[in-house]
Amino acid sequence: MSEAQENESATPGIDGTPTSDAAGSLTYPFARAANGGRPGDAEVMEMRPGVLWLRMPVPIPGLDYINLWLLEDGAGWTLVDTGFRSSKLQAIWEQVFARHLGGKPITRILCTHFHPDHLGLAGWLQERWNAPLWMTHGEWTFGRMLELEAMPEVPAEVIAFYRQIGFTDGQIEALKARGFGNFSKAVSPIPRSFHRITEGQRIRIGAHDWQVIVGRGHSPEHACLFSPDLNLLISGDQVLPRISPHIGVYPGEPEAGPLTLYLDSFPKFARLPDDILVLPAHGDPFIGLHTRIDMLRRHHQVRLDALLGALHRPHTVTETLPLLFRRDISDHMTLAGGEALAHLHHLMQTGQVEREADAAGVWRFRRSDAAEGAAAQ
Ligand SMILES: [Zn+2]
Repeated sequence: MSEAQENESATPGIDGTPTSDAAGSLTYPFARAANGGRPGDAEVMEMRPGVLWLRMPVPIPGLDYINLWLLEDGAGWTLVDTGFRSSKLQAIWEQVFARHLGGKPITRILCTHFHPDHLGLAGWLQERWNAPLWMTHGEWTFGRMLELEAMPEVPAEVIAFYRQIGFTDGQIEALKARGFGNFSKAVSPIPRSFHRITEGQRIRIGAHDWQVIVGRGHSPEHACLFSPDLNLLISGDQVLPRISPHIGVYPGEPEAGPLTLYLDSFPKFARLPDDILVLPAHGDPFIGLHTRIDMLRRHHQVRLDALLGALHRPHTVTETLPLLFRRDISDHMTLAGGEALAHLHHLMQTGQVEREADAAGVWRFRRSDAAEGAAAQ
Protein backbone atom coordinates (compact mmCIF):
# COMPACT_ATOMS: atom_id res chain seq x y z
CA MET A 1 0.00 0.00 0.00
CA SER A 2 1.20 3.44 0.28
CA GLU A 3 2.44 6.29 2.15
CA ALA A 4 -1.04 7.40 2.85
CA GLN A 5 -1.73 4.17 4.65
CA GLU A 6 1.43 4.47 6.58
CA ASN A 7 0.84 8.00 7.71
CA GLU A 8 -2.70 7.10 8.47
CA SER A 9 -1.63 4.12 10.37
CA ALA A 10 0.29 6.42 12.57
CA THR A 11 -2.89 8.27 13.32
CA PRO A 12 -5.72 5.97 14.14
CA GLY A 13 -7.03 8.86 16.13
CA ILE A 14 -8.82 10.88 13.50
CA ASP A 15 -11.71 8.64 14.08
CA GLY A 16 -11.15 9.74 17.59
CA THR A 17 -14.74 10.64 17.09
CA PRO A 18 -16.07 9.97 20.54
CA THR A 19 -18.49 7.22 19.91
CA SER A 20 -19.03 7.09 23.20
CA ASP A 21 -20.52 5.95 26.19
CA ALA A 22 -21.96 9.05 27.66
CA ALA A 23 -24.59 6.77 29.10
CA GLY A 24 -21.88 5.19 31.22
CA SER A 25 -22.79 1.79 29.90
CA LEU A 26 -19.23 0.47 30.08
CA THR A 27 -17.58 -0.31 33.39
CA TYR A 28 -14.01 0.76 34.07
CA PRO A 29 -13.05 -1.43 37.04
CA PHE A 30 -9.83 0.39 37.87
CA ALA A 31 -11.13 3.94 37.62
CA ARG A 32 -11.28 4.39 41.38
CA ALA A 33 -7.83 2.98 42.14
CA ALA A 34 -5.56 5.15 44.27
CA ASN A 35 -3.19 5.90 41.38
CA GLY A 36 -6.02 7.33 39.29
CA GLY A 37 -6.70 4.01 37.69
CA ARG A 38 -3.76 4.07 35.31
CA PRO A 39 -0.10 3.15 35.64
CA GLY A 40 2.24 6.16 35.70
CA ASP A 41 5.32 6.49 33.50
CA ALA A 42 7.47 3.37 33.71
CA GLU A 43 5.01 1.92 36.24
CA VAL A 44 2.83 -1.15 35.87
CA MET A 45 -0.57 -2.24 37.16
CA GLU A 46 -1.46 -5.88 37.66
CA MET A 47 -4.69 -6.83 35.83
CA ARG A 48 -4.51 -10.48 36.88
CA PRO A 49 -1.61 -12.37 38.50
CA GLY A 50 1.22 -12.21 35.93
CA VAL A 51 -0.61 -9.81 33.58
CA LEU A 52 0.85 -6.31 33.80
CA TRP A 53 -0.45 -3.12 32.16
CA LEU A 54 1.94 -0.36 31.18
CA ARG A 55 1.46 2.77 29.08
CA MET A 56 3.75 4.54 26.64
CA PRO A 57 3.23 8.02 25.21
CA VAL A 58 2.12 8.30 21.56
CA PRO A 59 2.98 11.56 19.78
CA ILE A 60 -0.45 11.83 18.16
CA PRO A 61 -3.17 14.18 19.37
CA GLY A 62 -6.20 12.21 20.43
CA LEU A 63 -4.32 9.03 21.22
CA ASP A 64 -1.83 10.22 23.83
CA TYR A 65 -0.95 6.77 25.14
CA ILE A 66 -0.78 3.19 24.00
CA ASN A 67 -1.39 0.35 26.45
CA LEU A 68 1.14 -2.48 26.39
CA TRP A 69 0.93 -5.79 28.22
CA LEU A 70 3.56 -7.90 29.93
CA LEU A 71 2.51 -11.52 30.40
CA GLU A 72 4.52 -13.68 32.78
CA ASP A 73 5.76 -16.60 30.75
CA GLY A 74 7.58 -19.18 32.88
CA ALA A 75 11.22 -18.19 33.03
CA GLY A 76 10.59 -14.99 31.04
CA TRP A 77 7.96 -12.52 29.85
CA THR A 78 5.89 -12.22 26.71
CA LEU A 79 5.41 -8.63 25.68
CA VAL A 80 2.33 -7.57 23.70
CA ASP A 81 2.99 -4.50 21.48
CA THR A 82 5.94 -2.18 21.79
CA GLY A 83 5.32 1.58 21.32
CA PHE A 84 6.64 4.02 18.69
CA ARG A 85 10.25 4.15 17.73
CA SER A 86 11.72 6.82 19.96
CA SER A 87 14.75 7.18 22.22
CA LYS A 88 12.43 8.53 24.93
CA LEU A 89 10.42 5.30 24.85
CA GLN A 90 13.57 3.21 24.87
CA ALA A 91 14.60 4.99 28.08
CA ILE A 92 11.19 4.27 29.62
CA TRP A 93 11.53 0.64 28.60
CA GLU A 94 14.90 0.38 30.34
CA GLN A 95 13.26 1.61 33.56
CA VAL A 96 10.49 -0.97 33.17
CA PHE A 97 13.04 -3.71 32.59
CA ALA A 98 15.00 -2.69 35.67
CA ARG A 99 12.00 -2.42 37.98
CA HIS A 100 9.27 -4.78 36.92
CA LEU A 101 10.60 -7.96 35.31
CA GLY A 102 11.76 -9.60 38.54
CA GLY A 103 15.11 -10.35 36.95
CA LYS A 104 13.56 -12.38 34.13
CA PRO A 105 14.14 -11.64 30.43
CA ILE A 106 11.70 -10.76 27.66
CA THR A 107 11.46 -14.04 25.78
CA ARG A 108 8.79 -13.26 23.18
CA ILE A 109 7.46 -10.11 21.49
CA LEU A 110 3.94 -10.40 20.15
CA CYS A 111 2.53 -7.55 18.04
CA THR A 112 -1.17 -7.24 17.35
CA HIS A 113 -0.67 -5.35 14.06
CA PHE A 114 1.79 -3.36 11.99
CA HIS A 115 0.88 0.21 13.01
CA PRO A 116 3.96 2.00 14.35
CA ASP A 117 2.66 2.57 17.87
CA HIS A 118 2.35 -1.22 18.13
CA LEU A 119 5.31 -2.48 16.07
CA GLY A 120 7.64 0.53 16.26
CA LEU A 121 10.15 -0.81 18.76
CA ALA A 122 9.92 -4.52 17.91
CA GLY A 123 13.24 -4.47 16.08
CA TRP A 124 15.03 -2.77 18.94
CA LEU A 125 13.44 -5.06 21.52
CA GLN A 126 14.31 -8.13 19.51
CA GLU A 127 17.95 -7.11 19.48
CA ARG A 128 17.89 -6.00 23.09
CA TRP A 129 16.56 -9.38 24.30
CA ASN A 130 17.26 -11.74 21.42
CA ALA A 131 13.55 -12.57 21.55
CA PRO A 132 11.46 -13.70 18.57
CA LEU A 133 8.68 -11.59 17.06
CA TRP A 134 5.27 -13.26 16.84
CA MET A 135 2.70 -11.78 14.44
CA THR A 136 0.15 -12.80 11.84
CA HIS A 137 1.54 -13.18 8.35
CA GLY A 138 -0.58 -10.32 6.97
CA GLU A 139 0.63 -7.84 9.56
CA TRP A 140 4.31 -8.72 9.41
CA THR A 141 4.48 -8.67 5.62
CA PHE A 142 2.51 -5.42 5.41
CA GLY A 143 4.80 -3.70 7.88
CA ARG A 144 7.93 -5.00 6.15
CA MET A 145 6.58 -3.86 2.79
CA LEU A 146 5.85 -0.34 4.02
CA GLU A 147 9.22 -0.10 5.69
CA LEU A 148 10.94 -0.82 2.39
CA GLU A 149 8.73 1.55 0.40
CA ALA A 150 10.49 4.83 1.13
CA MET A 151 10.70 7.02 -1.99
CA PRO A 152 11.70 10.61 -2.62
CA GLU A 153 8.41 11.61 -4.28
CA VAL A 154 4.78 10.65 -3.98
CA PRO A 155 4.11 8.15 -6.79
CA ALA A 156 1.76 9.16 -9.61
CA GLU A 157 -0.78 6.45 -8.85
CA VAL A 158 -1.11 7.69 -5.28
CA ILE A 159 -1.83 11.19 -6.55
CA ALA A 160 -4.29 9.75 -9.09
CA PHE A 161 -6.14 7.97 -6.29
CA TYR A 162 -6.58 11.16 -4.29
CA ARG A 163 -7.76 13.03 -7.39
CA GLN A 164 -10.25 10.23 -7.93
CA ILE A 165 -11.74 10.81 -4.48
CA GLY A 166 -12.04 14.56 -5.08
CA PHE A 167 -8.90 16.21 -3.73
CA THR A 168 -8.40 19.80 -4.92
CA ASP A 169 -5.11 21.00 -6.40
CA GLY A 170 -4.25 22.54 -3.03
CA GLN A 171 -4.91 19.29 -1.22
CA ILE A 172 -2.75 17.41 -3.72
CA GLU A 173 0.06 19.90 -3.12
CA ALA A 174 -0.23 19.35 0.64
CA LEU A 175 -0.04 15.60 0.03
CA LYS A 176 3.14 16.00 -2.01
CA ALA A 177 4.66 18.23 0.65
CA ARG A 178 4.24 15.50 3.26
CA GLY A 179 6.50 13.21 1.28
CA PHE A 180 6.32 9.46 0.87
CA GLY A 181 7.70 6.59 2.90
CA ASN A 182 7.39 8.03 6.38
CA PHE A 183 6.51 4.68 7.94
CA SER A 184 10.16 3.64 8.04
CA LYS A 185 10.92 6.62 10.27
CA ALA A 186 8.39 5.48 12.86
CA VAL A 187 9.75 1.96 13.28
CA SER A 188 13.09 0.52 14.28
CA PRO A 189 14.09 -1.96 11.56
CA ILE A 190 11.37 -4.62 11.59
CA PRO A 191 12.84 -8.08 12.21
CA ARG A 192 13.53 -9.91 8.95
CA SER A 193 12.12 -13.11 10.34
CA PHE A 194 9.07 -13.74 12.45
CA HIS A 195 6.98 -16.51 13.99
CA ARG A 196 3.53 -16.76 12.43
CA ILE A 197 0.36 -16.83 14.52
CA THR A 198 -3.01 -17.74 13.02
CA GLU A 199 -6.73 -17.52 13.69
CA GLY A 200 -7.84 -19.91 16.42
CA GLN A 201 -4.32 -20.84 17.48
CA ARG A 202 -3.83 -21.44 21.19
CA ILE A 203 -0.62 -20.01 22.57
CA ARG A 204 0.59 -21.18 25.95
CA ILE A 205 1.93 -18.20 27.87
CA GLY A 206 3.05 -19.12 31.36
CA ALA A 207 0.23 -20.96 33.12
CA HIS A 208 -2.49 -19.92 30.66
CA ASP A 209 -3.70 -20.49 27.12
CA TRP A 210 -4.38 -17.49 24.92
CA GLN A 211 -6.43 -17.94 21.79
CA VAL A 212 -5.71 -15.83 18.71
CA ILE A 213 -8.77 -14.07 17.28
CA VAL A 214 -8.11 -12.28 13.99
CA GLY A 215 -10.04 -9.07 13.40
CA ARG A 216 -10.15 -7.21 10.09
CA GLY A 217 -10.93 -3.75 8.80
CA HIS A 218 -8.55 -1.65 10.90
CA SER A 219 -5.51 -3.50 9.56
CA PRO A 220 -5.04 -6.57 7.36
CA GLU A 221 -4.92 -9.40 9.91
CA HIS A 222 -5.12 -7.91 13.38
CA ALA A 223 -4.42 -10.38 16.21
CA CYS A 224 -6.42 -10.19 19.42
CA LEU A 225 -5.70 -12.53 22.31
CA PHE A 226 -8.39 -14.20 24.41
CA SER A 227 -7.66 -16.07 27.62
CA PRO A 228 -10.66 -18.12 28.79
CA ASP A 229 -8.93 -18.95 32.11
CA LEU A 230 -8.24 -15.35 32.94
CA ASN A 231 -11.40 -14.02 31.27
CA LEU A 232 -9.30 -11.40 29.47
CA LEU A 233 -9.30 -10.09 25.91
CA ILE A 234 -6.30 -8.15 24.63
CA SER A 235 -8.16 -6.32 21.88
CA GLY A 236 -5.43 -4.13 20.34
CA ASP A 237 -7.11 -1.48 18.16
CA GLN A 238 -9.91 -3.79 17.02
CA VAL A 239 -12.25 -2.81 19.85
CA LEU A 240 -11.58 0.45 21.71
CA PRO A 241 -13.73 1.87 24.51
CA ARG A 242 -14.02 5.56 23.65
CA ILE A 243 -13.09 6.05 20.00
CA SER A 244 -13.90 4.07 16.91
CA PRO A 245 -10.87 2.41 15.35
CA HIS A 246 -9.80 4.00 12.09
CA ILE A 247 -11.22 2.14 9.08
CA GLY A 248 -9.86 3.54 5.83
CA VAL A 249 -9.34 2.86 2.11
CA TYR A 250 -5.91 3.71 0.71
CA PRO A 251 -4.28 3.87 -2.73
CA GLY A 252 -2.68 0.43 -2.50
CA GLU A 253 -6.15 -1.12 -2.62
CA PRO A 254 -8.54 1.50 -4.01
CA GLU A 255 -11.49 -0.92 -4.21
CA ALA A 256 -11.09 -2.16 -0.64
CA GLY A 257 -14.11 -2.69 1.59
CA PRO A 258 -12.61 -2.48 5.07
CA LEU A 259 -15.80 -1.39 6.84
CA THR A 260 -17.55 -4.53 5.62
CA LEU A 261 -14.60 -6.57 6.91
CA TYR A 262 -14.70 -4.71 10.21
CA LEU A 263 -18.43 -5.18 10.78
CA ASP A 264 -18.14 -8.84 9.74
CA SER A 265 -15.52 -9.36 12.47
CA PHE A 266 -17.94 -8.47 15.28
CA PRO A 267 -19.63 -11.88 15.65
CA LYS A 268 -16.32 -13.45 16.70
CA PHE A 269 -16.10 -11.02 19.59
CA ALA A 270 -19.79 -11.14 20.42
CA ARG A 271 -19.29 -14.85 21.21
CA LEU A 272 -16.94 -14.04 24.08
CA PRO A 273 -18.30 -13.70 27.64
CA ASP A 274 -19.95 -10.36 28.29
CA ASP A 275 -18.23 -10.04 31.67
CA ILE A 276 -14.78 -10.38 30.08
CA LEU A 277 -12.24 -7.69 30.98
CA VAL A 278 -11.18 -6.03 27.71
CA LEU A 279 -7.61 -4.73 27.55
CA PRO A 280 -7.62 -2.23 24.64
CA ALA A 281 -4.59 -0.51 23.10
CA HIS A 282 -6.02 2.96 23.74
CA GLY A 283 -8.28 4.04 26.59
CA ASP A 284 -8.84 2.13 29.82
CA PRO A 285 -9.55 -1.55 30.49
CA PHE A 286 -13.30 -2.06 30.53
CA ILE A 287 -16.13 -4.51 30.99
CA GLY A 288 -19.03 -4.42 28.56
CA LEU A 289 -17.76 -5.95 25.31
CA HIS A 290 -21.19 -6.72 23.88
CA THR A 291 -22.45 -3.23 24.64
CA ARG A 292 -19.35 -1.74 23.07
CA ILE A 293 -19.79 -3.78 19.89
CA ASP A 294 -23.39 -2.58 19.65
CA MET A 295 -22.24 1.02 20.12
CA LEU A 296 -19.60 0.71 17.41
CA ARG A 297 -22.10 -0.89 15.05
CA ARG A 298 -24.54 1.96 15.70
CA HIS A 299 -21.78 4.55 15.25
CA HIS A 300 -21.11 3.28 11.74
CA GLN A 301 -24.80 2.85 10.96
CA VAL A 302 -25.47 6.51 11.82
CA ARG A 303 -22.76 7.52 9.38
CA LEU A 304 -24.03 5.17 6.69
CA ASP A 305 -27.55 6.56 7.13
CA ALA A 306 -26.26 10.13 6.90
CA LEU A 307 -24.50 9.34 3.63
CA LEU A 308 -27.47 7.52 2.20
CA GLY A 309 -29.75 10.40 3.11
CA ALA A 310 -27.63 12.81 1.07
CA LEU A 311 -26.82 10.64 -1.91
CA HIS A 312 -30.00 11.35 -3.82
CA ARG A 313 -27.62 13.87 -5.32
CA PRO A 314 -24.24 12.52 -6.50
CA HIS A 315 -21.30 13.35 -4.22
CA THR A 316 -17.56 12.97 -4.54
CA VAL A 317 -15.86 11.40 -1.53
CA THR A 318 -14.56 14.73 -0.27
CA GLU A 319 -18.02 16.26 -0.64
CA THR A 320 -19.32 13.73 1.88
CA LEU A 321 -16.85 14.72 4.59
CA PRO A 322 -19.07 17.34 6.28
CA LEU A 323 -21.70 14.60 6.67
CA LEU A 324 -19.25 12.47 8.65
CA PHE A 325 -16.97 14.86 10.49
CA ARG A 326 -18.18 17.84 12.42
CA ARG A 327 -14.76 19.15 13.29
CA ASP A 328 -12.09 20.59 11.03
CA ILE A 329 -10.36 17.71 9.29
CA SER A 330 -8.40 19.78 6.77
CA ASP A 331 -5.09 18.56 8.22
CA HIS A 332 -6.21 14.94 8.02
CA MET A 333 -7.60 14.72 4.52
CA THR A 334 -6.14 11.32 3.60
CA LEU A 335 -7.44 9.80 6.80
CA ALA A 336 -10.84 11.41 6.52
CA GLY A 337 -11.15 10.65 2.81
CA GLY A 338 -10.12 7.04 3.43
CA GLU A 339 -12.68 6.70 6.19
CA ALA A 340 -15.47 8.22 4.06
CA LEU A 341 -14.59 5.95 1.16
CA ALA A 342 -14.74 2.93 3.47
CA HIS A 343 -18.33 3.85 4.32
CA LEU A 344 -19.23 4.51 0.68
CA HIS A 345 -17.77 1.21 -0.44
CA HIS A 346 -19.76 -0.58 2.25
CA LEU A 347 -22.91 1.01 0.84
CA MET A 348 -21.84 -0.15 -2.64
CA GLN A 349 -21.11 -3.66 -1.41
CA THR A 350 -24.59 -3.84 0.09
CA GLY A 351 -26.19 -2.60 -3.14
CA GLN A 352 -27.42 0.72 -1.77
CA VAL A 353 -25.12 3.05 -3.64
CA GLU A 354 -23.58 3.19 -7.11
CA ARG A 355 -20.35 4.76 -8.19
CA GLU A 356 -19.43 6.29 -11.50
CA ALA A 357 -16.46 8.28 -12.74
CA ASP A 358 -16.93 11.63 -14.44
CA ALA A 359 -14.98 12.76 -17.50
CA ALA A 360 -12.00 13.73 -15.31
CA GLY A 361 -12.05 10.31 -13.60
CA VAL A 362 -13.42 11.65 -10.30
CA TRP A 363 -15.68 9.17 -8.50
CA ARG A 364 -19.25 10.18 -7.74
CA PHE A 365 -21.55 8.18 -5.53
CA ARG A 366 -25.34 8.18 -5.51
CA ARG A 367 -28.17 6.05 -4.20
CA SER A 368 -29.00 3.04 -6.29
CA ASP A 369 -32.73 3.74 -6.03
CA ALA A 370 -32.16 7.29 -7.28
CA ALA A 371 -30.19 5.84 -10.17
CA GLU A 372 -33.02 3.44 -10.97
CA GLY A 373 -35.57 6.25 -10.72
CA ALA A 374 -33.58 8.39 -13.12
CA ALA A 375 -33.21 5.52 -15.55
CA ALA A 376 -36.95 4.84 -15.52
CA GLN A 377 -37.89 8.37 -16.48
ZN1 LIG B 1 -3.80 0.54 14.76
